[in-house]
Amino acid sequence: MKSKLHIAFYLVSIFILGACGGTQDTMVEDYEFENFEDGVIQFTFFHINDVYEIAPLEGGKVGGMARVATLYNQLLEENPNTLFVHAGDFLNPSLLGTLKHEGKSIKGKQMVEAMNACGVDLVTLGNHEFDLKKHELQERLNESNFSWLATNVLTYNGEKLVPFHIESMGNREFLPETFTWSIFDEDGTEINIGIFGATINSTKKDWIYYEDYYQEAVKSYLELNCETDVVFGLTHLAMNQDLKLASMLPNVPLFMGGHDHENIIDTVGNVIVAKADANAKTAYVHRITFHKNTGYTEVSSELVPITDEIEDEPNVQAIVDKWAKIQDENLTQIIANPNEVIYKTTVPLDGREASIRNFQTNLGEIICKGWAHAASAKKANAAIMNGGSIRLDDQLDGNILAVDLFRAMPFGGKVWEIDIKGSDLRKILNQGLENKGIGGYLQWYNIEYNSGKKAWSIGGKPLASNRTYHICLNDYLAAYSETISPIIKQANVKYYKPKDEDKKDPRSDVRKAVIEYMKTL
Ligand SMILES: [Zn+2]
Repeated sequence: MKSKLHIAFYLVSIFILGACGGTQDTMVEDYEFENFEDGVIQFTFFHINDVYEIAPLEGGKVGGMARVATLYNQLLEENPNTLFVHAGDFLNPSLLGTLKHEGKSIKGKQMVEAMNACGVDLVTLGNHEFDLKKHELQERLNESNFSWLATNVLTYNGEKLVPFHIESMGNREFLPETFTWSIFDEDGTEINIGIFGATINSTKKDWIYYEDYYQEAVKSYLELNCETDVVFGLTHLAMNQDLKLASMLPNVPLFMGGHDHENIIDTVGNVIVAKADANAKTAYVHRITFHKNTGYTEVSSELVPITDEIEDEPNVQAIVDKWAKIQDENLTQIIANPNEVIYKTTVPLDGREASIRNFQTNLGEIICKGWAHAASAKKANAAIMNGGSIRLDDQLDGNILAVDLFRAMPFGGKVWEIDIKGSDLRKILNQGLENKGIGGYLQWYNIEYNSGKKAWSIGGKPLASNRTYHICLNDYLAAYSETISPIIKQANVKYYKPKDEDKKDPRSDVRKAVIEYMKTL
């Protein structure tokens, strides 16, 4: 499971030093400390990314912030010069985030609490941080005890562009574009380490302004290069963007990335780009040896699986338990045992946003199949759902608990059945294809599309325009979705809905229907 990459190279900083205007000369300093310091210092980055879940997943086997905290404490013991960084995406999505506590939406509060308790030092803004409303993000900023990098993202104060800020005791502290970490070791070697960020511009809101991430990262690098001994990236970009940026900044030894949810490590020239798995299934430990007088930097990156073999750190575990109780109190109103194992999968069920909004996945299919199975009026010919109802942005693997279906579909809703004419069903399915890339892209069961012939079949037979089909779907898609529900409303369909008071009806909750179906498998 462990993978190691070891790369060493020279920082060719001499060319850029001239541009800084200072008289930075490391040779002079080396003579001053000759008797004491060896000019070599070791430090560690503990790096996670895309972590939304504070509790372990896959029936307790992987992940969990209390285990992350234990590993971090071990690294601190190994080397006190360890910086705990999170490369973005932590405030959303999560099931807990969609629930309410003490009358307020939780919206990532649980994650900030756990990160504070873990001792996270520095984060970079990810696109999912902007899923929140502006005032909710402000609350999370204010609650955080860690530093945030906002290298290329600004907000508006009226018409004026301003940095995001943290408000504490009436003071406003603006989020910086760069971060400097000053360390020294036992023999007196002292260095300043610069870190810049970069945030992908995928979540558009009228209160967010993105600057060009390439330009701003390069600008930040050049500034840091003048003020610090060595510069690293903590980025939240897609891999191809990270690699492009890495090619523009060949003297950065390491980019600690996020956004991609599977662990990956690659190099551009001498630059390493590394990302861990989402939800702390793994973490990266980057051990760095830096030679101050030459700029020679050795990076040894180790991907560490976070499993049940790592003990829980008690303080963080107490926070995880507190929130688990809040979650259970909410869920037991819908199902008796949220933590029951309902199914064991041998292949990961794909609920990643980039998948479910672009192609049919096995998770989309099994959910739709569960709804078809719940049909009570008559046997369903097929089932459909909008991919946007799946908010997991992750894969489900191994033991699937009932709560995992709630994580997958935090918004809930009911299963409806409709009788619809084939010609109208075709319009809906075609619209689903048009919605590729957005939440209105359809997942389905018992439906096939032949893209060459542009032809649909239902249950293996060509879709017949004049035939009436019995279809299961979520009430959101039927009644509220922007592009599909107008077609259904115009189609003069016959509806079969569960009764509001009948909580035993699996159709009363989209998650309940799938859970009951999975238990039969
Ligand atoms: Zn992201």
